[in-house]
Amino acid sequence: MDRIYKTLLFDGKISLAIIESTDIVNRAIEYHGLTPVTAATLGRTMTASLFMASNLKNKGDKLSVTVCGDGLGGHVIVSVDSLLRVRGYIDNPKVDIPLNEHGKLDVKRVVGKGRLTVVRNMGLKEPYSGSSEIVSGELAEDFAYYYTVSEQEPTAMALGVLIGDGGKCVGAGGMVMQALPGCDDQTALEAQKIIMKYGDISSHIKTRGAKGIKDEDFKGYYFTETFPKYECICSKEYIDALIVSLGREEAEDILNEQGEISIECQYCDKKYKYNKADVDALFSGENDG
Ligand SMILES: [Zn+2]
Repeated sequence: MDRIYKTLLFDGKISLAIIESTDIVNRAIEYHGLTPVTAATLGRTMTASLFMASNLKNKGDKLSVTVCGDGLGGHVIVSVDSLLRVRGYIDNPKVDIPLNEHGKLDVKRVVGKGRLTVVRNMGLKEPYSGSSEIVSGELAEDFAYYYTVSEQEPTAMALGVLIGDGGKCVGAGGMVMQALPGCDDQTALEAQKIIMKYGDISSHIKTRGAKGIKDEDFKGYYFTETFPKYECICSKEYIDALIVSLGREEAEDILNEQGEISIECQYCDKKYKYNKADVDALFSGENDG
């Protein structure tokens, strides 16, 4: 089961999060038919987004992350809510390219150069939006950079997705450390050194799980534990509203051309179909007058 562990290190000067997201990545692979390299790209983005969402304070808060680069994969979109229900997709899920010069999945080529944007919706307040340049394309560095420049929170991050034979994810997750107010440079450097040991975080997750890392490497600390999952919040009501927003004329045009209106959710591939009677029922309210 996927999970997020969080604690404070160095007398409360550094926050630590350990994220396990293997099941979530496998669900994304299943929904979208991802190749190993697009699974790694979407998986790393979902893992970082889950960390961001784990800091949302109120029920109902949510955020979306867009990795908008010029790489082979097109855009990567992830949305998460405060209950840690995550969903996401990548424009070109079938991109399949050779490993990079280090023998690793070439996420950088899938992402390319561009911008990373985060939008937070918190209740009635105006959505908060921040963005930063994609500096690496490997994503961990990009999310760390986002936090550092856009949120003024110095951050170090490791992200990884390990794909086994048969295209299944066998280990995915991340580790994040952030310098809290009052943190001195020396401590921040120490934290950076620790996280550098987890460059292959996905192998750690595969062999020990987030729980093993926590129990073995950070013995004696008190951790909170939460359970993220891949869950799409699309619904018939939502799609109904989408069709109504098209307007009756447009909806009937599509019906005439295609015989039915078929809408597929980009996040979970669920199909919503409407025939003439369904459309009539949706717009029936308009005839009452
Ligand atoms: Zn859906």
